[in-house]
Amino acid sequence: MLRIEGLRKFFGALEVLRGVDFEVETGDVVAVIGRSGSGKSTMLRCINGLEPFQEGRIVVADHVLGEGAADLRALRTEVGMVFQSYNLFPHLNVADNITLAPRVVRGVPRAERDALVDRVLDRVGLLDKKWAYPDELSGGQQQRVAIARSLAMEPRVMLFDEVTSALDPELTGEVLRTIQELAGSGMTMVLVTHEMGFARGVATRTMFMHEGRVWEYGPSEKLFDSPETPELQAFIGLNLK
Ligand code: ADP
Ligand code: MG
Repeated sequence: MLRIEGLRKFFGALEVLRGVDFEVETGDVVAVIGRSGSGKSTMLRCINGLEPFQEGRIVVADHVLGEGAADLRALRTEVGMVFQSYNLFPHLNVADNITLAPRVVRGVPRAERDALVDRVLDRVGLLDKKWAYPDELSGGQQQRVAIARSLAMEPRVMLFDEVTSALDPELTGEVLRTIQELAGSGMTMVLVTHEMGFARGVATRTMFMHEGRVWEYGPSEKLFDSPETPELQAFIGLNLK
């Protein structure tokens, strides 16, 4: 579903991604962990076509990005992304927040929009908030609407960048449960997260990034139970205590 080959990215002279290679199979849930500054967000932004890169290729389904390939538009419609800050439009209700992009970008006709809203709100458990405005919702509910908004574009891969980091602990749980349900429905996902319990318990695979490289990548139990490198051992030691 997703293949990254030899991805290199510089900000000026700073090499932030130093040759990243990995594959994600359909239905995999990949947790990306690693220290701040290791390149996790930059990698997700490259996959979603938000950041240009200098070398390498990104292949999503059958769309290729890189080496002169200009499949950016197609790729963006296949990849959904949810950020830490949910950025709902405050003057639009939940239904309108969700249909804005499908209407403008994909030209989904009016007659189909209502069913689309119901479908994606049902998947995040918020059908009853269809007509609410963002300021009437908790942070956790707003983040679930942001997830629904992304699902409305019917992506084949979903990327999540620390989507619970701005939430209080009691709201974090409801968002993680929503993501877990999506995982159960077979959605292919890559999530940058600080939630080690979630990575270990829900992710089928975990990737440890270090200094712009994929340092270790494999089944989650393997990475957490028998990390091979001193860097991952130290990271897990710090984060599980
Ligand atoms: P992470 O998400 O793992 O914390 P990032 O991908 O945000 O790491 O950042 C990786 C490195 O790239 C850091 O050294 C960061 O300072 C640098 N960086 C990120 N975005 C920019 C930018 N827009 N301009 C310059 N440097 C950046
Ligand atoms: Mg980041």
